[in-house]
Formats: sequence, structure tokens, C-alpha cells
Amino acid sequence: METFKLYIDGRFEAGAARFLSRNPATGEPWAEMPEARGDEVNRAVMAAQRAFNDPAWRGLTAGGRGKLLLRLADLLEANADELARLETLDTGKIIRETRAQIAYIAEYYRYYAGLADKIEGRVLAIDKPDMESWIRREPVGAVAAIVPWNSQLFLSAVKLGPALAAGCTVVLKASEEAPAPLLAFARVIDQAGFPPGVVNVITGFAAECGALLSAHPAVDHIAFTGGPETARHIVRNSAENLARTSLELGGKSPFIVFDDANLESAANAQVAGIFAASGQSCVAGSRLLVAESIKERFLALLTRKAEAIRIGAPEDPETQFGPLCTARQKQRIEEVVGKSLEQGARLVTGHYALEQGGHYYPPTILDCDGHPDAACLRTELFGPVLSVQSFRDEAEAIRLANDSAYGLAAGVFTRDLARAHRVTGVLRAGVVWLNTYRAISPMAPFGGYGESGSGREGGISAALEYTTTRTVWLRT
Ligand code: NAD
Repeated sequence: METFKLYIDGRFEAGAARFLSRNPATGEPWAEMPEARGDEVNRAVMAAQRAFNDPAWRGLTAGGRGKLLLRLADLLEANADELARLETLDTGKIIRETRAQIAYIAEYYRYYAGLADKIEGRVLAIDKPDMESWIRREPVGAVAAIVPWNSQLFLSAVKLGPALAAGCTVVLKASEEAPAPLLAFARVIDQAGFPPGVVNVITGFAAECGALLSAHPAVDHIAFTGGPETARHIVRNSAENLARTSLELGGKSPFIVFDDANLESAANAQVAGIFAASGQSCVAGSRLLVAESIKERFLALLTRKAEAIRIGAPEDPETQFGPLCTARQKQRIEEVVGKSLEQGARLVTGHYALEQGGHYYPPTILDCDGHPDAACLRTELFGPVLSVQSFRDEAEAIRLANDSAYGLAAGVFTRDLARAHRVTGVLRAGVVWLNTYRAISPMAPFGGYGESGSGREGGISAALEYTTTRTVWLRT
């Protein structure tokens, strides 16, 4: 059995207790994980606070921080095979996805490495003849970065990259459901040569590790990705330390296909949009809204593509679709789909038992026309379930698209440029993809409205989120 360690103040340690992590493809335990409890959480945060004020980090130039981030990017690539293997083993995410992701994660670190020395203050045109005044941009302090189990290397990169570029220090909490990728990444961070305490990597359970970390008085900023219910706990916890919060939460993203769309391209994007990562993606295009006149044709196309997806062992490079991360996740999806069928939704494809064992659940499509209260239309399933509704005109498409407590992403497929602009202008979503889906880049801000959270990751503004201003006055 493989074993992992916590990374606190530049040292690897075994943790207060150990717990087993299961391989989602088999349901069998495969690794022993270290659990951080009160003492470990406290030491990790205190290490981050100390490191923040330590000249070894504080005295480093912005360019020096950038160089460390560049080294981290190179080492990430050098260790890509091992990190991808571990992420696949622990989360069930297929190897071709984990490998591909690591290549572009390195680009996020490089992007923020380049930004480190471009964070600038400014001089005020102050209205007093005997004074000068200017604004310094300062790093905000010790950051608690808390991530869910899907895409942890990516979700931590969009926090670590800008936070370290800005000069903050970080306690990164890996998800207890699958901590292997981040605990292994701690070894890469160690090799990169950050001063001890600048980055600490821990894992543990929500009630102790998560709650203590987010309420810790020495935490200045909480960067959270996860579900909206957890976010509510975290915001309540942050009443203790009055830390700033940025929240990247769930989604129930609409995928709108108008009758003039290129149906082949829309169908490919929709299939990848909902079934990639077995649907365990915050931006999963889980609500298809399709023009009534093309509904049957488009559904037939989708069904053919969904049924052709190769389901298999996640470590096999030929596999296109793997298991869900946890048994609980599978059970919840089965329940919501079962309830939606009872409520009248029609099963187009999927929702059958797979032979593989483990936590597999097949690509599933539900036609919800005439059943607007079907549970699958409202609940974020975080799984491979596409709910379908049809619309008669643009106004109805927009009404249905915005009829959600979430507001993370949206896809629009049309050849009508004016319509694309009109619809984009009124969609309640932090990201709109026109005739494409899931495009991302380090340069592009990402985030949501409502239950999908607040704050934006990615782009220049994300680095500024980890800074605060200090106004200086000088009597001349
Ligand atoms: P989750 O909210 O259950 O857990 C996320 C993290 O929060 C874990 O590390 C967990 O230990 C920690 N946590 C749980 N309770 C806590 C508490 N009381 N205090 C502090 N920390 C606590 O999420 P999950 O089920 O692991 O992941 C799925 C969710 O994440 C979905 O809603 C998904 O949409 C969302 N997500 C959002 C994005 C985005 O960028 N918007 C990306 C990926 C996933």
C-alpha cells in the first residue's frame, strides 16, 4: 500500500492519524493517508504566517518569486507521469484527462510567474502642497486554499499561482476524498525550493481540519472551491478571523442549441461538456436547452455519441469514461435520477448497471419536457447526467437558461452573430462559450453568480485578489 505525508513548514510528517483512500475503479483501499487535526492545522497556519514575514520570502524580489514559480512549472512537467498516475488512482479520473490537464496547469504557473513583477502601486496626485502620497500593493498574508477532489492540481494552481506571485504564503488543504495528487505535489513544491512554510500541504476531514483552517485567526484570505453548502460553513467560520473569502462553487450550466446551429459540432461539444470527467466538473453543461424544431434530430445524434463512449479502466489510455470518485456520489446520482423518472422525466439513454464494479455510472440523458420540476433540472449532480428541455423561441431559451440558482457557465450554439450577442448579454453566467464549450486559459477570468460563488480566478485580476493596498504619506 502506498503512503503519503503532510507537508508543514518545509518538512514531511506522518500526521495525527491515518486513513485509507479507495481506488474508485475497484472500490478497494490502495493508499494510507495522513490526517491533519488541530495541532497540524495550527502548525501549518503558523508556519505560513511566520514564512510570510520571514526575509527569506518577504525579502525576495517579485522577479525572484516568479523564478520559483517557473521552476515549479518545470518540475510539474518533469513529474507529470507520476502525478497523473496518482490522480487517476485516487480519483478515478481517466489517465488521458489527468495527463492532458497537467500540461496546461504548468502554463498557469508560468503565466503567474510572469505576472509577479507586474503588480504595481501608484502615485497619487495628492491635493496638499507639502505632501506626497502613494499606494503600495502588498500581499494580503497567509492564505487558506481549500479544494474539492476533482481536478485538485488545477484548482490549487489557480490559487497558488496568483497567491505566490503576489507574495502570499499558503496552507493548501487537499480533499479527504482523494488527497494523493496534492500530497504528491508537495514533493514537487519542496524540490522547487520555496522557503519553508511558504507552501504547506495538508489534508483531513471537513469537521476538524476544514473548520479549524477556515476559522484560524492567522488566516487572512480563504480561497475555496467546492459546494455551496460547504461555502456557507466557510463563510460562517470566517466570521471568526474576518478573513477575505473567494468562493468558486457548483453549477447547473445551460447548453443552448438554436435551430441554425452546426449540430455536429454542438453535439460533440455537448457530449464532452457533460460526459468528460464522468460529469464531475463544475462547468458540466448539464442542462441542454434545444430548439423544439431540432430536438429529436439532436437527441438522436447525442444518443449515438453517448452510447459510443468507451467506458473502462481509468489507467487505460484508450478509456474515454471512468468511474465516479466516491460511492456516495454514485448513490446520490442514482437517487436523483430515480426520483426524476418518477416525476415523469423520460430516460433517453443510460441509468443502467455497469459490470465494472467500482463506482461506475453510465452516460445518461433524461428528457424533462413537460416536467419542469424534475429533480435533475435543479440539483447539481456532479455526474454524467444530461437533462433536456426544448424551447420555442429565444425568449424562452433565455428564461429557461436563467431559471437556476447557479450561474457559473453557459454554452450557446448558433450561426446568428446578433443573436449570440443578445443572448450573451442577458445570461446570468460568469463564463459564456459561443459555439464552443470548456475553453479555458490562464488569461481568462473564471467564476460565477449566486450559488456558483463570488470572486474570479484566472487572469490578471486574480493576482490582485491576493493583494491589499497600503497608502503612504510623506511630508516633503
Ligand atoms: P465539498 O464542498 O464537499 O468539499 C470541498 C472541500 O471543502 C474539501 O476539501 C472539504 O474537506 C472541505 N470542507 C468541507 N466542509 C468544510 C468545512 N465545514 N469547513 C472547511 N472546509 C470544509 O465539495 P466536493 O463534494 O468535494 O466537490 C464538489 C463541489 O465542488 C461541486 O459543487 C462542484 O461544482 C464544486 N466545484 C467548483 C469548481 C469551480 O471552480 N467553481 C470547480 C470544481 C468543483
